[in-house]
Amino acid sequence: MSIASAVLTVAARQPDHTAILWEEGRLTYAGLADQINRIAGGLITRHGLKPGQRVAMAMENCPEFLPLLLGVWRAGLVAIPINAKLHPREFDWIFRNSGAALVFATPTLASKLETDLPIISTDSRDYTALVSAEDAPVPEMALKNIAWIFYTSGTTGRPKGAMLTHRNLLSQSHAYYADVDHIGPEDVRIHSAPMSHGSGLYALPFLLRGAQNLILTGSFDPERIFETLRTHRNVSFFAAPTMVTRLLAHPDAGGDTSGLKTLEYGGAPMYVSDLKRALELFGPTLYQVYGQGESPMTIANITKDQHSHVWRDDYDALLASVGYARTAVEVRLIDQEGASLPAGEIGEIATKSDNVMAGYLDNPEATTKAIRGGWLMTGDMGVMDETGMLTLKDRSKDVIISGGSNIYPREIEEVLLTSPEIREVAVVGHPHPDWGEEVVAFVVGEAEPDKMDRMCLDNLARFKRPKRYEFVDALPKNNYGKVVKTELRERLRSGSQ
Ligand code: AMP
Repeated sequence: MSIASAVLTVAARQPDHTAILWEEGRLTYAGLADQINRIAGGLITRHGLKPGQRVAMAMENCPEFLPLLLGVWRAGLVAIPINAKLHPREFDWIFRNSGAALVFATPTLASKLETDLPIISTDSRDYTALVSAEDAPVPEMALKNIAWIFYTSGTTGRPKGAMLTHRNLLSQSHAYYADVDHIGPEDVRIHSAPMSHGSGLYALPFLLRGAQNLILTGSFDPERIFETLRTHRNVSFFAAPTMVTRLLAHPDAGGDTSGLKTLEYGGAPMYVSDLKRALELFGPTLYQVYGQGESPMTIANITKDQHSHVWRDDYDALLASVGYARTAVEVRLIDQEGASLPAGEIGEIATKSDNVMAGYLDNPEATTKAIRGGWLMTGDMGVMDETGMLTLKDRSKDVIISGGSNIYPREIEEVLLTSPEIREVAVVGHPHPDWGEEVVAFVVGEAEPDKMDRMCLDNLARFKRPKRYEFVDALPKNNYGKVVKTELRERLRSGSQ
């Protein structure tokens, strides 16, 4: 049993129903099944791949994403979907770290990638040959097999590959039906956020229940979302809080959104005032998800129903929280010694469930730190009240979340520190009304901001580069010589840098 074989069962039941649609076309479930089998056959016979080998997917949202993902699984292989916004060097690092045997890429990315690995662009003859290949006998799969390696970043600054099994993905799909909505063929799932992340993970509960997946290519566009809400019924989609804010600011926001069934937001904090406005405009369709790559999309939530509990005395606190543990998901707060904390005390959020990853790829040290006695240590600080309502206090200390993407300061610091003109540097996040947070670098040294900008652009994804550089004589340090970033953030807040 794998997610791919479960989708083939759906396809046999409803062959003519639309599985994937995009601006220029659509693919039925029969067409999807055909592609899954052919891609799997091609990967096994043309490319000689063996079960357990890894295939990287450097792809923007496109109609090929889901057939490929499922074809990879059908062939018993492991998929590594990668954020399309990364820098070629970051891609290459992940390709090498993951031991990928082959890379699939969308045309614009294919021409930019710097790697020795074979690349198959989705507009190439090789790709056409793959989707026209003959079926081949496929390996028997077990739910414990790894399906998806989700590259997340750690405090070490280098991304780590969270290994998600077919069981993890099935469990997050079941949790969707338990906590978000029942799904059927009449449902339409929009993919406007990156499918290498939450949007792709949330395609699975929809494919497993025979729903339609509408792929919006290109960057997030409120216009097309509103148009879809006018022209389709039973529409659901995931949006990072910054995307929700952009929807709210759009002139169509007060118009006809009757096609909307569920708008899931999460991945970063959403301001209560924005949330209230979203509730006014979109009605009882909002759902908050709290999760992380290591426990995909599934730790805690505020259900659609709870969003309308206006009668509660603690309504605002509820909206500012991440809600309650998901169905059959355990959540605890842990102190520094690893002991469970009572209600009202701040600690690190830990979770245990069938959603929790198998571990980090080839990184036993990080796995031992992250999973203790079956409990995943999330790195997020939080507090839980007597009723189980969980509020995030701080993210794993220093991670910056800008425009819905996690930015790990160390990566930027390491790039800047390669310049001899920079003696010390500390990168922190500063609250920003549109982006959630903006990246600010405190620099000890003489380098020109333009030059530092260039260094970042040459080595990192664009969105990670600092928006501001603050020159200081020295960085504040504690007794252990560690930079005190809380103080830097405080200086920015009070304007006293
Ligand atoms: P990622 O692994 O990229 O999905 O990032 C996961 C991290 O995003 C979590 O560990 C949290 O720090 C943050 N996060 C996820 N969901 C929420 C939420 N609903 N509210 C606030 N922060 C969130």
